[in-house]
Amino acid sequence: MNYTSYFRPGIDAMEGYTPGEQPKTMDIIKLNTNESPFPPAPGVKQALLDFETVRLRRYPDPVSSVLREEIAAMNGYGPENIITGNGSDDLLTILTRCFTDEHRAMACFDPSYSLYPTLANLQGAPCIRIPLTDDFDIPDDVLEQAAGANLFFIARPNAPTGNLFAKAKMERICAGFKGIVVIDEAYADFSRDNCMELVKKYANVVITRTFSKSRSLAGLRFAFAVAHPKIIEGMMKMKDSYNVSMLTQVLALASLRDPGYFEKCVNEIKANREVLAEGLRKLSFEILPSETNFLFVRPPKNAKKYFEDLKLKNIVVRYFPMARTCNYVRITVGSAAENAALLKATEEILSC
Ligand SMILES: *Cc1c(COP(=O)(O)O)cnc(C)c1O
Repeated sequence: MNYTSYFRPGIDAMEGYTPGEQPKTMDIIKLNTNESPFPPAPGVKQALLDFETVRLRRYPDPVSSVLREEIAAMNGYGPENIITGNGSDDLLTILTRCFTDEHRAMACFDPSYSLYPTLANLQGAPCIRIPLTDDFDIPDDVLEQAAGANLFFIARPNAPTGNLFAKAKMERICAGFKGIVVIDEAYADFSRDNCMELVKKYANVVITRTFSKSRSLAGLRFAFAVAHPKIIEGMMKMKDSYNVSMLTQVLALASLRDPGYFEKCVNEIKANREVLAEGLRKLSFEILPSETNFLFVRPPKNAKKYFEDLKLKNIVVRYFPMARTCNYVRITVGSAAENAALLKATEEILSC
């Protein structure tokens, strides 16, 4: 049968976003998508066991009222400052649809989270890609380069590089950029500080946080954004009515209510991160400073080959073939045992 495309031309022309692979077998050491090596909080399991399935007859609360109350209180805001999403990717999509079109560009750094330009493409909006400096920092003329864009996505800490841009630079962008600044804080729980209080100072700032990384709930799909009530109000119009399922709301709440477990996991990952960095440094890797649950490292041999050699040993990390990133691999900080296995495999690879 003949097929003629009915898609908008921009959709046919673009590449889709490629998520990190999810291997089918369990015997693989998976350090490629920055998931947590730990299970979710025990309270999450209990909430799942206690959940009465008859409740699923009904639609969920469309605006996650209880979660928004608790998230607001924990962060020093009101529920009118909070919107919840089906993971932060959902919130980033809502933001792109709210603030960009063919005449309103998006800005983002290069390298950064590769979903941002994909979202601009899907929306048919131009994307201004601003190169980071050689040491992956914000260039001094960032405001000039971003001028004309209406939405600026900044991952802080950045991915895949792992570094934390200085807060003063962030504040200068928030004050000077004539559009919405989204600070994607997917990894902020692993870093020394965050930008949450900037929402109090600047009406154009949106902070996003996810439960996928630090709360071991990537499979659940839950995230929230914090912003001025007017921005939240507009985003509420744009979102799918029931974008956060009832089960997700119940389990995300259970995770929030177990802060002790969460802190223990985050501290252990930060400690493991330093051990892993030291181990790789001893094997002559260049280690970029990381304030996340992953390391962005330059192997002493060809990075692509190292990535492939690890895969043959059933260890999956992430390789980004683009010009700025092709000499590095990104390694998620795993459990102590996983990190030890990675170091052992690396030693074997380098010795032959
Ligand atoms: C992992 C990641 C996300 C996606 O998080 P989800 O909540 O799982 O959709 C968003 N931004 C950055 C920078 C990430 O690394």
